[in-house]
Amino acid sequence: MRIDYAKAPADPDGGWHAHGVHRLARTPTASAASSGLCYSSEAEEFIFFHGNASVMLPSLAPGASSRPLLDLSTVEDHNTQYFNFVELPAAALRFMPKPAFVPDVALIANRFNPDNLMHVFHDDLLPLFYTLRQFPGLAREARLFFMEGWGEGAHFDLYKLLSPKQPLLRAQLKALGRLLCFSHAFVGLSKITTWYQYGFVQPQGPKANILVSGNEIRQFARFLTEKLNVSHAGSPLGEEYLLVFTRTHNRLILNEAELLLALAQEFQMKTVTVSLEDHSFADVVRLVSNASMLVSMHGAQLVTALFLPRGAAVVELFPYAVNPDHYTPYKTLATLPGMDLQYVAWRNTLPENTVTHPERPWDQGGITHLDRAEQARILQSREVPRHLCCRNPEWLFRIYQDTKVDIPSLIQTIRRVVKGRPGPRKQKWTVSLYPGKVREARCQASVQGASEARLTVSWQIPWNLKYLKVREVKYEVWLQEQGENTYVPYVLALQNHTFTENIKPFTTYLVWVRCIFNKTLQGPFADVLVCNT
Ligand code: UDP
Repeated sequence: MRIDYAKAPADPDGGWHAHGVHRLARTPTASAASSGLCYSSEAEEFIFFHGNASVMLPSLAPGASSRPLLDLSTVEDHNTQYFNFVELPAAALRFMPKPAFVPDVALIANRFNPDNLMHVFHDDLLPLFYTLRQFPGLAREARLFFMEGWGEGAHFDLYKLLSPKQPLLRAQLKALGRLLCFSHAFVGLSKITTWYQYGFVQPQGPKANILVSGNEIRQFARFLTEKLNVSHAGSPLGEEYLLVFTRTHNRLILNEAELLLALAQEFQMKTVTVSLEDHSFADVVRLVSNASMLVSMHGAQLVTALFLPRGAAVVELFPYAVNPDHYTPYKTLATLPGMDLQYVAWRNTLPENTVTHPERPWDQGGITHLDRAEQARILQSREVPRHLCCRNPEWLFRIYQDTKVDIPSLIQTIRRVVKGRPGPRKQKWTVSLYPGKVREARCQASVQGASEARLTVSWQIPWNLKYLKVREVKYEVWLQEQGENTYVPYVLALQNHTFTENIKPFTTYLVWVRCIFNKTLQGPFADVLVCNT
């Protein structure tokens, strides 16, 4: 994706850590400006008025106020997105314009790139939805304030669905007063639902610590589907179908008709197209949420995969010289646990099937503004090397190519993943539940002669297991000789085990036991056992 937000280098003293504790800050629930947050629409600055009773945590040391307190958008530590404010004593109010009070509870945030659908969903809509649900009543009462300074953007109607009140843009605040004071405000967005980092610091990729699952994504999708009045009545075509999401301006599929025909033949299903240009967003959601497969070039429109039914397949097409493994926002989404989607990436490997556009403006992949040697290098390169966001000309050149899709290779690639007939599946209970501690862990030792000993460890199942159906229950036991740094781990299927190897007589062992469900869901360790042989 292309992002026009340039990120300036980090201020070395910029307090990149300062907002770690402040994902979402809440101003004191003050009803008077003298202890709260205001916005000067003249200065275009937030102001904190300090009174005798003001509390600010973390207490910003003098001179430290340039440090970001928190991010206004969900993009981590982007220096165009910090929440900045100036401080004044409450007494200064006497000399300022009479404040106008905002009667609603405010949620104040930045949208990151409201013209790009991926950014709209990933950076804004999902985080807004879950931030509003983090505080009782907020979703029903809040008014959203978008402070990034953009106009409504291409998808403002979607933002309007999130709260009952019309969101306000920064440019509209002037009309409300020169000094706007919030009686009750929340600032910033929860980052808990984001799954991707766009490559500002390191090349783009999934976030290191993804906390969202398909369950939360699907709850949000259901909410939006209902708000858009998209019925759950089943297939809008009255039968199963494959959906090709096309782009009309750039990154085209050049043999679309041939592709539609081939897909229809291979999967014996009707195949239809959809585009953001030719369909309302409600129609897009209606079509996607009943499709058996979504096929599309890499691009923001693929974020709509979050509306696909469980069991459907996502097929992402990449132009020549673009490595699918390096650009995975949609793969990461489709493969989140609980999304229950099948994901396929296909790339064009044939240079004769690509159409380049060197003459276009730089932001649509043109390269004629570059010096000749650099143009020649890009033209010869067979793969875009990993790079940082956002203006890498080689990346833009390649990602804005049009592609004639090689049908046999695409079908083969899809068939490697999609074996039978793709399509909606009944919802199954997919939330992963973790084991509790094992109970009544005990150890018993016996010494056989001067050099041999045995250690028998036993335990009872975790308390919650008797209420659960779990496919596979295993136990992990760690043995550590007291005083040693290392331990030996064992994975066992039964509730007791006698260890004989490497067990020394007259030695103290520390033994930890925990339960593991389905290979990955690890319970907590029970209290350590101290065992003397
Ligand atoms: N877009 C579209 N049709 C097109 C090209 C783009 O609807 O032919 C949309 C696209 O889905 C995205 C926005 O325009 O929401 C910006 O597209 P861009 O190519 O900049 O970003 P990308 O899709 O690569 O993330």
